[in-house]
Amino acid sequence: MSVKGYAAFGPGEALKPFSYEPDALGPHDVEIEVTHCGICHSDVHLIDNDWGITKYPTIPGHEVVGEVAGLGCEVKGLAKGDRVGVGWQAGSCLHCEWCVSGQENRCGEQSAVCVGRYGGFAEALRVDGRFAFPIPKAISSEHASPLLCGGITVYTPLRAHAHPWSRVGVVGIGGLGHFAVQFAKAFGCEVTAFSTTAEKEKEAVELGAHHFALCSDAKQMKKAAESLDLIVSTVHVDMDWESWMRVLRPNGVLALVGVSDGPLNIAPDTLLLGKKAVVGSTIGTRSAMREMLEFAGRHGIRAWAEVVPMSQVNDAVDRVRKGKARYRMVLKQTK
Ligand SMILES: [Zn+2]
Ligand SMILES: [Zn+2]
Repeated sequence: MSVKGYAAFGPGEALKPFSYEPDALGPHDVEIEVTHCGICHSDVHLIDNDWGITKYPTIPGHEVVGEVAGLGCEVKGLAKGDRVGVGWQAGSCLHCEWCVSGQENRCGEQSAVCVGRYGGFAEALRVDGRFAFPIPKAISSEHASPLLCGGITVYTPLRAHAHPWSRVGVVGIGGLGHFAVQFAKAFGCEVTAFSTTAEKEKEAVELGAHHFALCSDAKQMKKAAESLDLIVSTVHVDMDWESWMRVLRPNGVLALVGVSDGPLNIAPDTLLLGKKAVVGSTIGTRSAMREMLEFAGRHGIRAWAEVVPMSQVNDAVDRVRKGKARYRMVLKQTK
């Protein structure tokens, strides 16, 4: 049986229909009939080989939702027809110190769904069933799919550093930020949304933000000084990080989930005097993934997503590449 999908054949190229013969189903693997796949900015980086790790042809896609269609002989807890989701991580060794402590996303032998293997912009996907997560009934597939990478990426630092009494700032109200605002609100935090776009204020409030501040307005930034316990920065550009540290209260944490090029210019004094910290975070553990999906279902946290047929993959990728998606793009299988 061959699997049909959409692959890029070179950096920046449009995706074209492409078929491949999948590896035999391993004992722990599940075969998933893909119904939905979100487009994450990392997919654009892979298509363009920005990280130098892409092997062409490459089928991107790591926000996969579908139905279990086949099971290896050792798979437990899943059955044919179950609706499951798969995020960035396709597997890990499951026996190193990180894996046994439930931190599979720190494993040195982890694999990614669409790096060195074919991803979710396709009709099917074979993956280790221990990295396929049941989707709660309360969430539709199109709403669930972007949670599997975008959602877990911001849920993880919020889970680690936010408390119901925390004052949380979310920098950048886009694909990641719109999830961060919803999660922080549902955690019970007081949420400030920061954006360079004044027009985002209405939607930020609709997402649950209590306050909105324009990063480009010096007066508003001055007013925000020493007001927050946690800042989750979702932006991919270099910023004046020292000034963001001034927005934190003592003991405050700046959590970075976006990747920028330049160094972090923060004076040691800034960290020492207010006992402040800068942390980074990527994806999440398997248990956090299950918890996040349950939590999202319970609190009505949804991807604000534009859903298009998978055949329109190139237009959809283009919208993500140009930062025009409001707020995530989801490909839907229409066959
Ligand atoms: Zn992603
Ligand atoms: Zn491991």
